[in-house]
Amino acid sequence: MIPRSKSDKNENKPPPIIRCRVRCPMCQEASYQYRMNNRVFWNRDIDIDLQPQNYAKLDHVDPDFHPPLYYMWYCPECHFTAGYRHFIHPLKDVYVKTEAVSTRIREAYAAKENFHKLVNILSRGLDIEHMDFFQGIKLHLLAVLELELIEDMVKQYFLNLGRYCLHLAWLYRDLSNKPEALATTQPRLEELYEEVKDLWPDMPRTEYEALYKAVKYYDQTFERSPQVKTVIDEVSILQVIARICIKLNKRDEARKMLTSSIERALEARDKIEVKLRDTGEEGKKLTADQTADMVTLSRRLRTIADENKQLIQLLAEERLKEHTIHAKKLLKANKGRDLTVLKRILIKNHIDRRVIAKLLPEDKKKGVFPW
Ligand SMILES: [Zn+2]
Repeated sequence: MIPRSKSDKNENKPPPIIRCRVRCPMCQEASYQYRMNNRVFWNRDIDIDLQPQNYAKLDHVDPDFHPPLYYMWYCPECHFTAGYRHFIHPLKDVYVKTEAVSTRIREAYAAKENFHKLVNILSRGLDIEHMDFFQGIKLHLLAVLELELIEDMVKQYFLNLGRYCLHLAWLYRDLSNKPEALATTQPRLEELYEEVKDLWPDMPRTEYEALYKAVKYYDQTFERSPQVKTVIDEVSILQVIARICIKLNKRDEARKMLTSSIERALEARDKIEVKLRDTGEEGKKLTADQTADMVTLSRRLRTIADENKQLIQLLAEERLKEHTIHAKKLLKANKGRDLTVLKRILIKNHIDRRVIAKLLPEDKKKGVFPW
């Protein structure tokens, strides 16, 4: 048997990205894009705000290959940019004609004002054959810019705006964890920010700013978008907002969202359970398929409520940890003082009573054998 050469072996192995030809929904021009091949890499962890992390790759894949850099598709003809899942049908479920949106983008571009300048700056030198963090971030910014231009036309777009801002925050986070890429990318980003600062003052430039914008748009989706149709949509979006709030260190807001999500989920679940248990007239009307759907829905609601409870638990644990650190500092600064005085200091600084009880336990020896 003739052994195969190494290169032959690699030729037969699936690539991490696959070139495909795609027609742009806005200008109808065809272009090449890269579709991610999820069979050769996968993420092992999920961050609190749902960011896929810690990618595992098959041996033949370049270790530097970073899947999120290929999230956005970009039309080189008209500059339309969208997440690969939304590029071909960007207005699915939206009651606005594609022509109306493409006309708005075209006219804004033709006006040669800020939008035109920004699109040119953000799309300058893009080369999808050699993607890097700088280009990935620019494409995310371009997608956000275009959606912000048409947000008044299609309220439903708030969901994608939230989504793209969240993905942008993840890219910033990934970049900050890669010292080599950061060293080459940060100076280019600084130049870019300087160039656009007057054209787009609230352009998200950091992970924090991108997360902040994501919350704003998810919030608006929850409040106003017809895309939020079912109770599952409602409770899921509240959970996403809460998860981002946790990342932003806005714990009170996160807790509020999680509590509201649990209440809605359990209330809806109770109604379903009542219907399922109903053996009277109403109950008998349910077909086997309807019953199965309702059981599935009830389980999903239960799962979401349980996840929310775990997140609330996590928030409580984090709070106690912070209180302990703060309390220990206070005790160190007041070393040697009387126990009652120390307690008073901790109470005055709003340290949680459980932390106080743990750090300054009552002297239990007293009164153990009172006789
Ligand atoms: Zn196009």
